[in-house]
Parts: sequence; C-alpha cells; structure tokens
Amino acid sequence: MPKALSPALFAAAMAVLVFTACTRTNPGPELHSPSAPMALQAGQQQQGASADEDRADGAMDDDSPAEVPAVPEDPPAPEPDRTTLPTGWGTVPAPPLDEAGPRIDTGIDHVVILVVDGVRSDAIATLGTEGAPTWHRLMAEGASTLNARTDPRRTYTNPNHLGMITGLVTDGDDGHGLRSNRDVEGTLHDLRGAYLPSVHDVTFHHGLTTAVFASKPKLDLLSRSWTPEHAAPSSAREDNDALRIVAESFNELDDAETHAVALEFLEQEELPAILFLQYSRSDGIGHSSGFNPTPGSAYMRELTRIDGYMAEILERIEQHPALAGRTAVVLTTDHGGEGTNHFNLDHAANWTIPLVVWGPGVPAGTDLHALNAEGRADPGDVIASDAAPPPIRNIEAGQIALRMLGLPPIPGSRVGVAPPLQVFAPAARPAEDAEARPAPPGGAPAPEAAPALTP
Ligand SMILES: [Zn+2]
Repeated sequence: MPKALSPALFAAAMAVLVFTACTRTNPGPELHSPSAPMALQAGQQQQGASADEDRADGAMDDDSPAEVPAVPEDPPAPEPDRTTLPTGWGTVPAPPLDEAGPRIDTGIDHVVILVVDGVRSDAIATLGTEGAPTWHRLMAEGASTLNARTDPRRTYTNPNHLGMITGLVTDGDDGHGLRSNRDVEGTLHDLRGAYLPSVHDVTFHHGLTTAVFASKPKLDLLSRSWTPEHAAPSSAREDNDALRIVAESFNELDDAETHAVALEFLEQEELPAILFLQYSRSDGIGHSSGFNPTPGSAYMRELTRIDGYMAEILERIEQHPALAGRTAVVLTTDHGGEGTNHFNLDHAANWTIPLVVWGPGVPAGTDLHALNAEGRADPGDVIASDAAPPPIRNIEAGQIALRMLGLPPIPGSRVGVAPPLQVFAPAARPAEDAEARPAPPGGAPAPEAAPALTP
C-alpha cells in the first residue's frame, strides 16, 4: 500500500547513490580487439522460466497489495516461437563494439529514458494538453507516435524493460530470454546462458556512464547484471573495475520517492550520458482500479500526477548548465492495460502504446512513422508481431538513446539496428554512419559475430 518513506529510509535510499566522475572523452578509433569475442550462441539461452514463472504480473506490480487480483494467467495465445525472431526484425546483429567506430558528435550529451509504467495510448490522447501537458508538450516539440508496440509477444514489465536496454525481443534463440515477470535471482547472463550486452556496455566502452532510478524494486534487473563484477570488460578501457552505472535507486513502488531522488541527482554537476527513470504507480492503480481511460478515473488522475513529475524533470534539465540544449528525452511505457490487467494479447490496449522522442535536432510535431517511412511500418490496428518492416517499438528506447548520443548500437542486438529508427530531421542528421562506421555484415544471421565483449 502507499506509504511515506521515513527520513532514515530516504537517507538509506540516497546512500545507494554512488557518484563518480563522468568522462565524456571518446576512446577514439584505437579500439583494440578483445581477446575472445563472446558469441551469443544460438540455442544456449535458457528458455528457463517455468510455467509458473511464466505467468505475468502479480502483487509485485501493484502498490495496493490488498487489492491485487490473483496472479493472472499468462496470455493464452499466441505461443511464442521458440526458435526464430519475428521476421519483421533484422536478421543482422549490431557489430561488435570494437568494429563500431568512435562516437559521433550529435550535439547531444545526455539522454533521459523516461518510462511511465502501464500507459495505454488512448489515455494520453484523451487527457490532452490539459490532463497530460508534459506528454503533449514533448509530442508538440518532438517526434512521436501513439501507435507504437510493445515486445511482439510480451505485454508486461520485465521483458519490455529488459528489451529497452538490450535491444532484443524476449523470445527466440536470439532474444534476451527473460519471460518471468517476477523478481528473478542471479544475473541475466546466467539466466540466458550467455553474456547479455546492454546500453551500459556501450556507454562504458566509450568512456561514458549511466544511472537507473525506478519505482519497482524488481527493476534492479536493469542494473545489477552490469556491475564491475558481472559486466564484460571493455577492450577500450583499462579501468574495467570502474562502475558502468554510477547511480541507482529502486524503491517499494513509491513514485514520489523515485522522483525526489531523480530531482536531487539532477542537481549534480557531472551527470551520466543515460539516465533511465521509471515511474510505476500508474500500473499499480491500473491493477487495483482498472486501466480506465475515462476522464476523471483513478488511473487518469494518476497519469496526470506523473505528468507533473515529468514537468519537473524537464524543468531541471532546462535549468542545468550542462544539460540545457544538450539533452534528449525518450518517453515511452512498458505496456498498456485493459480492465485490471495487461497480459492478454487479444486486447489492443495492452500493446498499443506511445513513444515520444524530444531533443536537439528532432523535428517538432513530427510523426515518427512519417520520419521512418522506409524502415518502419505503421501497424494500423493489429499487433504486427511478424510484420516487415516492423512497427516502432518501446524496446528500441535504448538504441534510440545510444544513437542520439552518437554511439553504436548494442552489440548483438537486432531491434532498431538495420535500419535504425530515424529521430533527427534530415538536415540535422550527423554526417555519419555509412562512412564513420562499417555497415553491419549482410546476409544470413551470424550469431557468432555478436558482441566484442569478453565475459
Ligand atoms: Zn502491471
């Protein structure tokens, strides 16, 4: 149930913030090859989650445990394809980091990946500029769509959040493999049976850092597998015992607490390249009172409250001397909702979600599908799991952030790689990719070519 954190608990939460100097130097072209590239071996991934684990959300997701319904069944259909990726995604994995070239100057030094848990698109449309002024400001000043999609077959928290930072769908031999929606034990590398590269690896390789603040305690899965102890060493760094993630905070479903920590963090002089910030009470209210898009519902009021948090984050960005004019925001959600749940693929509201990109070089008031007429297809009113070209998906969030920072995609990732999602106006696109970075090898899938990171 909602609770206020005591000052002592708040202090404890703040104590987990670890600040280190954040360098923005590029390692330059001299990226040496690692000793033994770690292949993402087809078939190695542990399909692992038991039938029980495979059921989706439970009390973990709700901030009103007393009202949480029984653990719902996993979506009954369609069964995920265990052997192949959806055909709409590229068969070409992102190249190893040491082949990916140096960072490109895009004019952007920081990206906030902002995730509001459980947002159905029609709620944002209905709230309008009055009920969701920050959503609509970012849409008016940036590029967006209210017809983005979740992971092709998983409309719940863990798989979609992990997809955002790995650039992988959940299922298939090349998926990230985290189908459980519960608090998982061990590292994600162990779960998968192979090293799982993430945005944290790419930023670290290029001398940058990240931070993760989330309201769901189980979302420590976004950071704990990339501690110096568990992360792959970078061939470009000699200080591989340094932190990739310089600040993190996870609390017991308390958005006010997460927000306070984030605001305070944004007062620091040196800030990481990527800040992943997640608010979750909208999901808890959805489970207890319904993901009800009717004006005035508890769910809609909660979205308005979180919109106010978002406004304060933007204000902090615009007041910060190092962030103002050099920061982008990628705003999306992990899934939508229908009734008091979000697991059934038969309900379009579970997988019809918003995605907004805002920042320098992003053309104001633009439809992301119009900007990506060739690389992405508007899915209309279908889930489009296997469409080619694929729809725009929330699990591209990390790739979008890296690209806006002028960084290469996550090694071995498939989502948003070929082609990447275009978010800059044509005139603002850096004179980049084709020449600065070798194109990924064409032809058949080559999982052996995956990440240049040693375990
Ligand atoms: Zn949920």
